[in-house]
Amino acid sequence: MKKLETISQILEQYMEKVHREVYLNLSGQKETCELSPIFEANSSIFTPEIISRLREAVSNEDPERQKRAKYLLRMVLEGYLQGRCKELVDLKSTTEAQATISIEGKQIPFRQATTLNYSERDQVRRKLLFEAGKPVREQLNELQRQTAEREQGISRELGFPHYLALYQETSLPSLRALVQEMDSFCRKTREKYEELMARVIPRELGIAWSQFGEYDVARLRRGDRYDHFFKDDRLDATLKETLSGMGIQLSDLPNISIDGELRPRKYPRACVITIRIPEEVVILYNPTGGYKSYHELFHESGHALHFGTTDRSLPFEYKEGGDGAVSEGYAFLMDNLLLNPDWWRVFIGGDGCKEYMEFAYALELHLLRNYTARLKGDMALYNGQSTGEKDRQYAQFIKEYLGFDYSLDRVYYQNDSFYGACYLRAWIFEAQMRDYLKRNYGPRWFQSKEAGRLVKEFWGYGTQYTVEELASRLGYQGLDTGPLLAEFLG
Ligand SMILES: [Zn+2]
Repeated sequence: MKKLETISQILEQYMEKVHREVYLNLSGQKETCELSPIFEANSSIFTPEIISRLREAVSNEDPERQKRAKYLLRMVLEGYLQGRCKELVDLKSTTEAQATISIEGKQIPFRQATTLNYSERDQVRRKLLFEAGKPVREQLNELQRQTAEREQGISRELGFPHYLALYQETSLPSLRALVQEMDSFCRKTREKYEELMARVIPRELGIAWSQFGEYDVARLRRGDRYDHFFKDDRLDATLKETLSGMGIQLSDLPNISIDGELRPRKYPRACVITIRIPEEVVILYNPTGGYKSYHELFHESGHALHFGTTDRSLPFEYKEGGDGAVSEGYAFLMDNLLLNPDWWRVFIGGDGCKEYMEFAYALELHLLRNYTARLKGDMALYNGQSTGEKDRQYAQFIKEYLGFDYSLDRVYYQNDSFYGACYLRAWIFEAQMRDYLKRNYGPRWFQSKEAGRLVKEFWGYGTQYTVEELASRLGYQGLDTGPLLAEFLG
């Protein structure tokens, strides 16, 4: 029987190879994403026996080892599920990278359509672009639907009633409690959301809130009215100077690289790939320009700084496993600087702050509501109900929380197996951490070396602590939506 330490080391070597392959595919340098051979070579770690061994350790050993076993169990279960679904997973990535769509007689890569949608000013053409992607999304949905069904079957084989139960056993917080908390948050902010959307959408898109559709979301997020504030040639310097104010020099961190090159088949969303933590961390992003580039690069730099400064002596499960909300929280802490009027005065200047804030708060509320609806939808999706019922519920949640229709062909395509729960907990935690920083180091905490030291200390913990534990370290009673709510209802 393998020891926890051995499982941890094998996983670390396996994940490095996976991340390298994913990096080549997402960066657009390699058309295919061949994870199967990597999995085959390491299949001895992803077995029902190892899963039983880890489940035993979770219930038997001392609390510290229980936690490590839980984090390892999550990774092994994910690997096991991926392995059993590998041809579907490979096919989905390859299909997405190779797919083209036909628009006005021209063939363009599917991934590029999202980038085009950001910049399209005409609603009719946005709708056309969105519609043109429908056959590809349906193809991807079908693959995702098959994957979800297979995951359900495997969960039952392993002795769980359904996938949701499997997820709950390896996740630290209760999803139901989170949904309750977020339901209450969404109720309290509904009026604010409607009011902001009704004000912001006509200004941004020249259409009424009642005319807004799902094909307008990407365009709304682009926010190019603010481009003249967020100067492209100042992006790198602004990030460096902001960090320098906190006593953090990017030049001291050659292990973090930034890939901002435009390639046609590059993944349209920005992300961080942690090839090896902390030794090799890459930020992938597309310099679309303006506010969006600033937002993306700041967000991803939060992830990269977290993983790139994680204590290298930690076991692998504390570097990469554990609570996904932790790194998202640090990423939000960085991108939320764009919403700090004091940061604006120092780095952006001009008089656009008030309008920009309304725009950004509308987007934040939209995202919080979107993730809450999707979490509820995912919970319905994975608790073993019939497919028709799940689809209907999913669409209903989205309509209820967002206030506009969402076509079902996006449901499975966007399915993230509960990662949305990490985002929601990260939002709550980040508002608490920022509240702490403001109270202790002032509204210009981003210019305080002491604040920087605290943030760096937290980054160094890797993923050892959950956001609930980190919030307690800052003096809160675990997660508390108070600071997040105060931000919107002030
Ligand atoms: Zn993120």
